[in-house]
Amino acid sequence: MIKILILAANPKNTSRLRLDEEVREIDAGLQRARRRDEFELRQQWATRPQDIRRAMLDFTPNIVHFCGHGQGSAGIALEDQNGQTQLVSTAALAEFFELFADSVQCVLLNACYSETQAQAIARHVEFVIGMAQGVGDRAAIEFAVAFYDALGAGRPIRFAYRLACNAVRMAGVGGQLAPVIMVKGAASVPHTQPAVSAPPRQDTPPSAERTRGTSPRQRPRQRSIDQQPPLSIPRLEIAAPASGHPAAHRTAPYKIDGDLCISCGACEAECPQEAIVEEMLQYTIDPNRCTGCGDCVEVCPVEAISQ
Ligand code: SF4
Ligand code: SF4
Repeated sequence: MIKILILAANPKNTSRLRLDEEVREIDAGLQRARRRDEFELRQQWATRPQDIRRAMLDFTPNIVHFCGHGQGSAGIALEDQNGQTQLVSTAALAEFFELFADSVQCVLLNACYSETQAQAIARHVEFVIGMAQGVGDRAAIEFAVAFYDALGAGRPIRFAYRLACNAVRMAGVGGQLAPVIMVKGAASVPHTQPAVSAPPRQDTPPSAERTRGTSPRQRPRQRSIDQQPPLSIPRLEIAAPASGHPAAHRTAPYKIDGDLCISCGACEAECPQEAIVEEMLQYTIDPNRCTGCGDCVEVCPVEAISQ
């Protein structure tokens, strides 16, 4: 069972967002999905810091989805006891997710300028998605719905991310939407889909679509923050195989290209070393177990496995 926790916050003193529509559409998409029985979704509204803590402790989600306002380096906007904005700092968020790194495998921050938080959380969580720019309400909803549609169909997280980026373009609502996906252990952190060229939407006119944060014009320091180099996230160390272990006799281990893999599972059943594991619909090869026999390569229908 893959557990998704949705955290929504739209403090009274911030512009109104269509978070209810976003959550309803995500839920509806998962309800109709081919693998719907494998997903459990829980919603937390008007989220305060203690609500996140309790939801994480009680529900132990695998995916955490935040929708609301982001304010770049200042943090993301939760609510205080009076429903007003309570900013949660990047450092506090990163420390929090470090504590739950054994269960959380993906964090999606569907809020403006959340790249800073995504980079920090990616020190501890396998996949983190944030937004490098402001994001309009319509684009945020398109992105989220497509992302969970893909997961519900059994696709891995990288594919879901790419499909979600494409969905925003297909809908023509991207503005300057620039989602970034961070992968724990990657040497160069951001894998960014280029922003589409349509003009950005502003959040100032009441009648216009809302964006999920403060525009760079209103935050003159934002540009210098955005131009900082990404945090350096160290590669995960891989222990050398012990003498006598099957992997000690290998040539070079095989690996799976997550962008190509369609999660069919054929390779997992084929591997004589049980080196291929599936987690959250993501297939990976344990280099410490792989002997390089190549059996998995033969059965992969999309040529996603190589040395
Ligand atoms: S190359 Fe052989 S040992 Fe390595 S993952 Fe594929 S089937 Fe398993
Ligand atoms: S056989 Fe290929 S497509 Fe199927 S799970 Fe393995 S790597 Fe992915």
